[in-house]
Amino acid sequence: MCERIPESAFPPRQLRRRGVLAVAGAAFVAACAPTRTRRRIHCVAPEPEPPSPKAPPEPAYRVFTREDWGAEPLKDNHDPMNGIKRITLHHTAELPGMDTRTDLELVKGVQNFHRNERGWADIGYHWLIGRDGNVYEGRTLEAQGAHAGAGKNGNNLGISAVGDFTTELPSAKQLATIELFLSEQLALYEIPIEELHGHRDFKPTECPGTSLYEWLGAFKQGRGAAQPDA
Ligand SMILES: [Zn+2]
Repeated sequence: MCERIPESAFPPRQLRRRGVLAVAGAAFVAACAPTRTRRRIHCVAPEPEPPSPKAPPEPAYRVFTREDWGAEPLKDNHDPMNGIKRITLHHTAELPGMDTRTDLELVKGVQNFHRNERGWADIGYHWLIGRDGNVYEGRTLEAQGAHAGAGKNGNNLGISAVGDFTTELPSAKQLATIELFLSEQLALYEIPIEELHGHRDFKPTECPGTSLYEWLGAFKQGRGAAQPDA
C-alpha cells in the first residue's frame, strides 16, 4: 500500500546517497505514485510480515509406539508375516475398567491378557485405535498376528477399535481415525478393497460389532467394493 508521508519523516540522507529510490525503488515508486507528484510522494513498502513460526499442520491422530505404552517384548512363538495382503477390522469389545482407564492402559491390559494369560507371542492385533482418536502400535508388523482365527492370520493386518460397537458406532473422533487409518493402510500396502474384512467374515463372531461392521460395509461400498448379495 502506498502511504503519503511528510518529507521530514523520510530518512533522506542514506537513501539519497545510496540512490535507493532512483534504482531499487524506482519501479515501486513509478507503480505507486502519479507521475506529476512522483518527486513528492513516496511509497513505503509494506513492512514484511514477520517470519511467523509456521506451525506444522495438526496431525489427524497421534501414534503411540510400543515404547510409549510400555509394551513387553514379542516372544518367539509366532510366524513371520511375510507381507501384508489383507486387513481385518476388530473391536476389543468391553474391557475391564473401560470407564476409568485410558486407552493406553487398556492397550497394555490387552497385551497382558493375550501375551501373558493366553500365552501368545504378543498382543494379537498390529494396531489399535483408541477412543481418544489416537493409534496404538500393537504387534510388530514382521510378526503374523493372532486375531482372525486359526489359519486366517497369514498376511493379515489386524486393526482393532477400542470399545464395544455392537449397538453403537465409535465416537465421531474415533471413527474419523478408523476411516483415515484404514484408508492409509489400504494405500500403503496396495490392498484391494475386497481384502478389507471384518472379523466376522472369517468366523462366527460378533466382532467387530454389528454397528461397526455395517459402517465397514458402507465404507467399502463407497470405495467401489461390490455389494454383498441380498
Ligand atoms: Zn475380532
